[in-house]
Amino acid sequence: EDKRLYSPKYVREILNRYGFEFSKSLGQNFLIDGNIVRKIGIEGEITKEDYVLEIGPGMGTLTEELSLRAKKVVAVELDKTLLPILDETLESCDNIEIIHGDILKIDIQKLIDEKLDGGPVKVVANLPYYVTTPIIAKLLEEDLNLESIIVMVQKEVAERMVANPGSKQYGSLSVFVNFYSHPKIVVKVPKTVFMPQPKIDSAVIKLTLKENLPDVDRDQFFKVVKAAFSKRRKTIINSLSTYGFNIDKECIKETLEQLNIKLEERAENLSVEDFIKISKTLPPLDI
Ligand code: SAM
Repeated sequence: EDKRLYSPKYVREILNRYGFEFSKSLGQNFLIDGNIVRKIGIEGEITKEDYVLEIGPGMGTLTEELSLRAKKVVAVELDKTLLPILDETLESCDNIEIIHGDILKIDIQKLIDEKLDGGPVKVVANLPYYVTTPIIAKLLEEDLNLESIIVMVQKEVAERMVANPGSKQYGSLSVFVNFYSHPKIVVKVPKTVFMPQPKIDSAVIKLTLKENLPDVDRDQFFKVVKAAFSKRRKTIINSLSTYGFNIDKECIKETLEQLNIKLEERAENLSVEDFIKISKTLPPLDI
């Protein structure tokens, strides 16, 4: 038991032996708590049928848990100095492949096709916080064959993702995530489960991807959302009409009236459904 990868004593021993130093700029905070590691495996509903893509395995703590549950795990790690460590810590797992690379630069669908039997894939990650949003955006936007994404993120980010219209945290990130998936906070996580301890609290969030995306031109939809939230305190009629679209205020007014949306409504009170209706009713936007 003492040798399981999340034992702080073992983590310190192995990292010292390799002369490893945590990199702040790569967001390296490793899990040292078996309960959280197991919780991620359980809530991720990883079974022996599943292909798993892990982002940022670190020294392999979560990877080991995933390997025990999954059919196959491919883990992408950017920090070269962790590769020999992973060789040792995951020595006894034969269903893992470690890839050295930057998840933001990798062709993920190609990787899924070549190494994960084309998917569907469950993504699991304890993400470096500075790249959380770009990584999640990439995973959702690229129409990959994914089933779910379970990730550790900053607590505030998790709360923004699950926020409902009308709440303080609701914004374009909530709309973005809810367009593609059904988000759920799985567990809130205290700082103490990491080495080194970060300054902020975290949460594990699970995004279950929608099988069918809403029937709307995605490009048009996200133009409307971006414009609507560009000036947070403005009314919807004002943000849409001053954004520089190729349509005049009168046209926007007619659209909103037709949809029974108050002209003075604010973006933070509009649901994904409302934004879909607005995008479908407006003529094609050209910027
Ligand atoms: N999964 C491990 C754990 O839970 O203990 C480590 C988590 S640590 C928060 C994040 C890991 O992601 C680090 O190992 C870091 O080197 C790696 N990483 C950072 N940026 C990355 C990127 N763009 N692509 C792949 N891995 C990255």
